[in-house]
Amino acid sequence: MLNFIFMWLLFIIMNIPHNLYIHVPFCMSKCKYCAFFSRACDNPDWEKYACDICSELKFWSDKLGQVHIPTIFFGGGTPSLMPIKIFEQIMNCIHKNFDIDKNCEITIESNPGTLDKNKLSDFVSIGVNRLSVGIQSLTDAELQFMGRRHNVRQAQDLLNVAQNMNLRVSADFIYGLPNHNVQSVIDLCNEINKLGLQHVSMYELTIEKNTPFGKMNLNMPDNNTMADMYTAIGENLNLPRYEVSNYATPNQHCLHNENIWDGGAYIGIGQGGAGRVFIDDIWYEQRGNYELFEKISDETRAVEKILTGLRTIRGVKLSDDVKNQIDFNWVNKHKDLVAINNEYLHTTPRGMLILDDITLDLIK
Ligand code: SF4
Repeated sequence: MLNFIFMWLLFIIMNIPHNLYIHVPFCMSKCKYCAFFSRACDNPDWEKYACDICSELKFWSDKLGQVHIPTIFFGGGTPSLMPIKIFEQIMNCIHKNFDIDKNCEITIESNPGTLDKNKLSDFVSIGVNRLSVGIQSLTDAELQFMGRRHNVRQAQDLLNVAQNMNLRVSADFIYGLPNHNVQSVIDLCNEINKLGLQHVSMYELTIEKNTPFGKMNLNMPDNNTMADMYTAIGENLNLPRYEVSNYATPNQHCLHNENIWDGGAYIGIGQGGAGRVFIDDIWYEQRGNYELFEKISDETRAVEKILTGLRTIRGVKLSDDVKNQIDFNWVNKHKDLVAINNEYLHTTPRGMLILDDITLDLIK
């Protein structure tokens, strides 16, 4: 018996922390640019959803032990549509199956118009301490064009409610719409600066084939204009960039995403969830159905760390496995694009503009 308890304790102690992502695939309607795994659904079967999520959580707890959970991220879809009872059921299930950090960052994604003060207070009382709001534009005409359900006033109302509750708040915006130019993006940054946010995500509009936008033959800004807009955002937003698309004061970085970019382990729960889990000293890729997971070699893992680490301003840590995958001759010849600082390899501002090309070139 003592032997069994010792082995069990060892199992718990030896497992590294895993961040937890929970996917909520329901939306009120589909936005015209959206290629995320989500579906428009008026009346989802929330009981079934909670039941499926809880059995996945149990599955991973059986595989990994009661691992330490430093962050939980409810993404979507539109997680703020979740009834409180369902959210509580899922949080109880997480508590039962894992060791949640006492300062766990618990984020929920939301859309304006789906969350009022009372519902947000309920989410907070069950553990949410960070709210991510999909605002996308500060112009009603653009919101309509993108097929968003809310207007600017609803977005501002939700931000005010969350800020008055002293929640950590982040907002997402989209730039590079067909009518955008550098000046309109500077105007957008100036408007965002007035919102008092400490975390902002700025995503370039990309046109995906199987979306309404993909079928509309839109007249998009060219690549050079997109690059100029990106530079203008860095110069005009009053928050420092800490990742390709993310800007925040230093103590407000999204820890969940940061852990993943740094190569941490994470469990993806729900249809559309994906993860990288670590079991008995082996990394596994986990996606879609939770029973589908495949070993990843140490080399692949190191390459993944380079791909995600270089997205951040700090860069990728030059651990031995990472060093083995990097062509340092290329690095030495391209000091205008990449640099090494305190054992981290990072891009220069010029390099960040052509990040995809750089990562292809510097990996052996
Ligand atoms: S709310 Fe988000 S996930 Fe839902 S359809 Fe719009 S962009 Fe996609």
